[in-house]
Amino acid sequence: IKDGEVTPEMLDQLSKESFPPCMQQLHHNLKTNHHLKHNGRMQYGLFLKGIGLSMNDAIRFWKTEFCKQMDGDKWDKQYLYNIRHNYGHEGKRANYTPYSCSKICSMTPGPGESNGCPFRHTDASVLRQRLQGMSLNREGIDTIVEFSKKGHPQLACGKYFDMVHNQDIGFTPNHPNHYFDESRNVLNP
Ligand code: SF4
Repeated sequence: IKDGEVTPEMLDQLSKESFPPCMQQLHHNLKTNHHLKHNGRMQYGLFLKGIGLSMNDAIRFWKTEFCKQMDGDKWDKQYLYNIRHNYGHEGKRANYTPYSCSKICSMTPGPGESNGCPFRHTDASVLRQRLQGMSLNREGIDTIVEFSKKGHPQLACGKYFDMVHNQDIGFTPNHPNHYFDESRNVLNP
């Protein structure tokens, strides 16, 4: 997928197919609650920029979701600047890059926040339950939970990637956008 070719309408499907769990979680919570707190907006917003969502589509996407429970004018005042800023259209006009796995793992989510890495910040028993809910095989779940418990979230994520893509190549992501790109390569060789 090239820059500007990802649209808001594609995100539900792409999140199921190719988003790493950290971004699936943010997408799901945004769609469910029509809101994300600041760290989640940054983590998810920059990831979406990285996969090729244009600034205007990003504005449309966030505004549509948030305005299911808030007024459009209020949204413009509170949130528009930050999206334009992330795309380098405000402030220092810097080109902000999406967060790496190590940065995401270093940002522990607070109460009510859904940023962070599920393999770093989710309790082992809750992680196991979620993986069981996805019908992954027992042995694979054990491996993922073990990596997570030992403090190796990227190895856990790589094992998860291999399982959901039906392969066993020992992939290890260092960045959620790396995970996404690799997934698109596997699914559309
Ligand atoms: Fe996301 Fe990286 Fe954690 Fe995987 S290891 S869920 S890509 S932060």
